[in-house]
Amino acid sequence: MIYDVVIIGGGPAGLTAGLYAARARLKSLLIEKGLPGGLVTTTEWVENYPGFEEGIMGVELAQKMEKQATRFGLEIIQGTVVDISLNNKIKRITLEGSQDYEAKSIILATGAHPRPLKIEGENEFRGRGVSYCATCDGAFYRGKKIAVVGGGDSAVQEAIFLTKFAEVVYVVHRRDELRAEKILQERAFSNPKIIFVWNSVADKITGENGVNALHIKNLKTGEKSALDVHGVFIYIGYNPNTEFLKGLVNLNENNYIIADENMATSAPGIFTAGDVRNKPLKQIATAVGDGATAAMAAEKYIEENFQESY
Ligand code: NAP
Repeated sequence: MIYDVVIIGGGPAGLTAGLYAARARLKSLLIEKGLPGGLVTTTEWVENYPGFEEGIMGVELAQKMEKQATRFGLEIIQGTVVDISLNNKIKRITLEGSQDYEAKSIILATGAHPRPLKIEGENEFRGRGVSYCATCDGAFYRGKKIAVVGGGDSAVQEAIFLTKFAEVVYVVHRRDELRAEKILQERAFSNPKIIFVWNSVADKITGENGVNALHIKNLKTGEKSALDVHGVFIYIGYNPNTEFLKGLVNLNENNYIIADENMATSAPGIFTAGDVRNKPLKQIATAVGDGATAAMAAEKYIEENFQESY
């Protein structure tokens, strides 16, 4: 069987593409390697997605999106896509340890994964004091001191969340000004549990059974010191999940997918949506817009290219 659309990635972009494709009565399959929801599920509380005036839990928002899309006929399977090949206009999607799928069009909505610091101790203590997900691991640090590395929306939002559990949250940032949106900055600055460590970079993470210290260096003075912490949460940005594409579509210098305003990539019939796309604002609100656009563009592509029956 040949699907009209195969969507790869089940975050807000992929689920919205699935909703629109299913409602357009396209035979639609979404392949997700974990649980649907994507990075939203690693956010405790979302308050800038319209329609939820008090905010909504990230996990709940993801579940609502999934239910809404499947209600209209989107099929969702779990699997890891390792290759995509083109056979004339038909695209073959190869999964790890599973059957292949065929599609007339593809929407790449694979998102991005947390960027590692690449410092000593990071891998050693991953899952034992080093984390990239405050929602998942924050509760382990009740009454403890922890550090968050980074100065963007993620670092500041998650630092605020972590004060629910931790006694002290150091935010280690390489400049003396945050990149995070102003409302998050105001909340962080007025939170007595958050201590900012400016102009500083993380050098190494040390400990024995778990983390005992984050060693830092002040970039202005060159002074080295150690923060006595049990946990280090790393939020220094994300890398796009495009490794498996291997030259299939054009990427920018940071490996994000280049697309036009219809979400069309350089490969005919292959569209993209969400954080994996090269774009200035990576938000749930922009991801769902991408998803809707990509699904409609895929529908148009199918109409124009598949008159004959396969
Ligand atoms: P980001 O905006 O790229 O910020 C990364 C932060 O880490 C920056 O402060 C950067 O410092 C710092 N950094 C980068 N590399 C570093 C290194 N090697 N060592 C130390 N610090 C380093 O990433 P993000 O905060 O994860 O956000 C990603 C996207 O998701 C953004 O578009 C953001 O707006 C969005 N997002 C939105 C929300 C929300 O709306 N509430 C929540 C989370 C994420 P510099 O500032 O010096 O560059």
